[in-house]
Amino acid sequence: MDYKTFYNFMLKLTNAFEKSSCRKDFLDSLEAAFSKVLQVESIKIYVLDEFSYVLKDFEKPWESSIEQAQNAKIQEVINSFIGSKDYTKLEDNIIYMPIFDNTKIIGVLKIILDKKIKPDNDFFEISQLVQKQISYAVLNFKSGEKMKLNTKFYQTIRNIAKIIETQYELSYILPILGEMIDSFIYEHLIYIFIKNKSKKEFKLVWPANIKDSKIYEYLEELTPKSGVVIERDGKVGIFPLLSEQKLLGAVVAYNPFDKLNENEINYLDEISKQASITIERASEYMKILKDATLDALTGLNNRHQFALRLREETASAKRQNTPLCCIMTDIDFFKKVNDTYGHAVGDCVLKNVARTIKKELRENDIPSRYGGEEFAILLPYTTLEEAQLVAQRLRSAIEKKKINIEEYNIEGVKQLSVTISIGVSQYDKKMKEPQQLYQNADKALYSAKENGRNRVVVYDENL
Ligand code: GH3
Ligand code: MG
Ligand code: MG
Repeated sequence: MDYKTFYNFMLKLTNAFEKSSCRKDFLDSLEAAFSKVLQVESIKIYVLDEFSYVLKDFEKPWESSIEQAQNAKIQEVINSFIGSKDYTKLEDNIIYMPIFDNTKIIGVLKIILDKKIKPDNDFFEISQLVQKQISYAVLNFKSGEKMKLNTKFYQTIRNIAKIIETQYELSYILPILGEMIDSFIYEHLIYIFIKNKSKKEFKLVWPANIKDSKIYEYLEELTPKSGVVIERDGKVGIFPLLSEQKLLGAVVAYNPFDKLNENEINYLDEISKQASITIERASEYMKILKDATLDALTGLNNRHQFALRLREETASAKRQNTPLCCIMTDIDFFKKVNDTYGHAVGDCVLKNVARTIKKELRENDIPSRYGGEEFAILLPYTTLEEAQLVAQRLRSAIEKKKINIEEYNIEGVKQLSVTISIGVSQYDKKMKEPQQLYQNADKALYSAKENGRNRVVVYDENL
């Protein structure tokens, strides 16, 4: 091996260690490096899983083990390296190299060579150096991934704790919880169950359905004192959601093939505890809010209050024969905001839209948060023409508004804008029910969405 070949090989190896973004990348780069000095056909790394001690393909850590015959062969190779002074083993056209964690052998690098060409003897001279570097890189990879998982874990915990700062409806919180946990545990399916207080049975609240009904049987055995329950050889983990010794529900992690490892069990245990606190606080909040008139996130009237005001205002318009209009708004593509920047940013957008709406209205106008990202506005003493102008003003104000999201530390995004679609309707004394006023506005809103969004549509009978 000449100096230049050696240099190129080492340079490529270093690059493989430093620049690979994933395990597959790493193996591809290794193969490119070894091809400088050997006639390589393919390269594999097998490592012992630190929890289950089974051999896994380094490239496919999610597969529970490798094929049996291969497994026996690799085990045999590992055993032959133990206590030996060799750093390589050549068998027919295959080179094996041990992978060390300190002094312990934790795996093997397997290089399959082109049969016809014998490896250069120089290669075996530098094999100790090469083997050391590769061991180091494999360990680095593993600890880097662990660190990423750790960071993600703390982020998840923090996000779960944060949900409650702005949200309190369980029907909204639970799916978010499910998504958060799911994005963090890769190899297991995650389910969230809530216990029905009166009937004592568990109801699946996230995701929409479950394949394995046996899980309900496991849940029946759960008690407030049972702690984490592991079933089916470690493939199913059941983590209780508790509040003051009472069972609220459970988070279930499920994999038909693979065991939960110790790390995942600890993480899920912690996450479930944090989720319990969030759910408990949400329920408390709900109790307090039962008598409230304002929406907690935006400070506008809540839906309940909207219904009351609708009844009052329609009655008054009828009695005094004064005009009354209703505006319904819905943020365009709002789901995308949540999906792209997270729910905290979504909440921030909702607050800003609410604030802008309030600022643009007159004192007598009555804005309410009708639902998620829908706002309803009652406009007493206002004609349809005036209401239409108000609606256009709102639409344009929201479109122009730059919402500052710097505090959420999203790379490259300091501010964002959204648009709203609007439907407008007018009260008519002939209406049998007050609800018809906003139903008409809603129909117009639907038409605004249909016709391209970011626009105002006034209700007419042909819609
Ligand atoms: P369209 O233009 O058709 O209205 O599209 P859209 O994405 O806005 O419509 P869709 O009704 O599918 O999505 C509304 C989203 O609003 C879904 C839900 O996650 C989100 N949402 C509802 N309430 C809240 C909330 O309080 N906070 C946050 N961040 N998101 C919410
Ligand atoms: Mg909507
Ligand atoms: Mg919308």
